[in-house]
Order: sequence, then structure tokens, then C-alpha cells
Amino acid sequence: MSGDVVAAAEHGLAPRPADDDIPDSSAVSKAGNKSEDNKGVTATPSADLLIRLNDDPALGFCVYAARPYRRGERLFEERTALEATHDAHKEGVRNVYERYCQQSVERRRALHGSFPHLAWANGVDAQEAADARTLVGSLLTATSKGLKIDNRLTAADHMRMRPDWGRPAEETTGHVSGIVSSPKPAIRAKAALYGLFKKPLPPQDVLSAEDEAEKKARAETLEWFSRYAFRLKPEASFNKPGGNYQAAVYLLTDLINHRCSGFQNCRVSADVGTIAVLALRDIAAGEEVTINYSKDVKDFQCKGECCVKK
Ligand SMILES: [Zn+2]
Repeated sequence: MSGDVVAAAEHGLAPRPADDDIPDSSAVSKAGNKSEDNKGVTATPSADLLIRLNDDPALGFCVYAARPYRRGERLFEERTALEATHDAHKEGVRNVYERYCQQSVERRRALHGSFPHLAWANGVDAQEAADARTLVGSLLTATSKGLKIDNRLTAADHMRMRPDWGRPAEETTGHVSGIVSSPKPAIRAKAALYGLFKKPLPPQDVLSAEDEAEKKARAETLEWFSRYAFRLKPEASFNKPGGNYQAAVYLLTDLINHRCSGFQNCRVSADVGTIAVLALRDIAAGEEVTINYSKDVKDFQCKGECCVKK
């Protein structure tokens, strides 16, 4: 039954510049990465999965198998991190931002830990967001309770994956906190406004600054969701107008990179409230875990070995 949903689970990827830092690509497209990855895995034989930033930061976060998996084996299963109704073209029907704001503080922290873009969109300090990366895996279900994840993302890695990244590395490796000018978190802005209303009306420019901050947070949160969400209906297509689609993001599954059809080593199986990642073939320790996002998203530029020729 879930097989039908499998075919449907698909990444909606918004049009982006070719040089954008999208975590959608390959660790093995660069010579030399493989051996280093294996070395890293060997150092922690007790882990099942390893998360780290690729040596080329433009290639993004990657998930590696830290031990061998057999064909058909379930690598892990996790609960939905955030589900929302999405329409790529209609204003006013997309509740992504509202759903994000309704989440508990802990859930939002977990989302920030997994998605630097979302943290940045909502004005969360880079260090604070990076600290929450330990929560990645916190929504794993009982079936994968014993899963051990070796999370090697540093605060600097987290910083590199934010859309505002662009400063020289030496400025960020030592102290990543507080160097980014970002909009004030809309949630905090709302609380501030509530307090303000008990007093005489503030100057108009204060109010409009809060409005602008929320407007930007809303737009960037939607942009983030469009890029990372898996759609949950087979007939739905993210990049075609004319419908509302239920879509969801996942803390761990969303860190897995794309390979074109035939090159991926895993598939996803989505069900109500959960998603599982299963091995399509035997996977060796040290190998990058990959899935197929979509076949028909034209704006998506695959950087995997399936598309990038050496
Ligand atoms: Zn490809």
C-alpha cells in the first residue's frame, strides 16, 4: 500500500541559481572523497549512519552508511517533522509558515538543526541553530529506535549551508555566532508587538519594520519548504499551478542527497505521519546513502556522478 505513496514522494525544488548551496548532490563526484569518508566511518564502527558536510560545501550535507546494509533492509523510519498544505503559485492558501509557528519550541529547534535555511529565514542565530543539530534523529520511530547516528556537522558547517553564506571561511570558523544580519524572528516580533499594544502606540516605523521582518520570514520559510518538502499525493506536482498539496519535511530523510533514476541506492516509503528509507541494493560501509527525488523537476540540477562527468 505504501508503495503507491513511494512513487509519489517527491522533492519540490524551486528554481535556483546554478551555484546555490543546495544539499542535493554527490560525495563521490569528487575524487578523493570516498577514501576520506571511509576513514571517517571506520573511526566510529558503532554508528549506523554518519552525517557530515561534503568536502565541497556546495554539495551540502550528506548521509553515509556507517555499516553495511542488505538489499531490502530498512535503514530507518522517522516521523514527519512538519506537514503543510502547499501551492507553489497561489497566494493565501499556503499555510507553511503558520504551521511552523504553531510547532512547539522543541520541534522548531529540531527543524532549525536540520535546516539552516529555515533557521536563517526566521532570524535564529547560527550557533543556536547548529546546537540543535543533535536533535536530528529525535523523531525516529520505535522501529529504528536502536539506530546510532554519528552527527559530525559543526557550527561552521551549519553556517555554510545558510543562504547568507558568502564570507571568507576564516571569519566563521572560530566564532560563527552573531555575525549575520538577519531579520528579527517573526515569532519574537509578535510577542514584542503584544507587549507594545499595552502601551501607547509605537512610532509607525517600528510597526512597519516588524511587518517587513515577518513578511521576509514568511517568504523565506515558504521558499525553504518548496525546496525540501516531499509531496504526499501521487497526482500532485509541486511546480504546476492549480491545487493545494499536502507535503512534509523530515529531519533525517531530507539530508539524503539525490541521484537520478537507477543511480540511487535507497528508496523512501511514505505513510501517514512517517517515512521509511529502504535499501534498493546492498550498501557497503562508507557509501553515501542516496534517493531519487523526482524525474520531472526541470529546475533541479543534479550534481551526482550520474550527471556530472569528470
Ligand atoms: Zn543525476
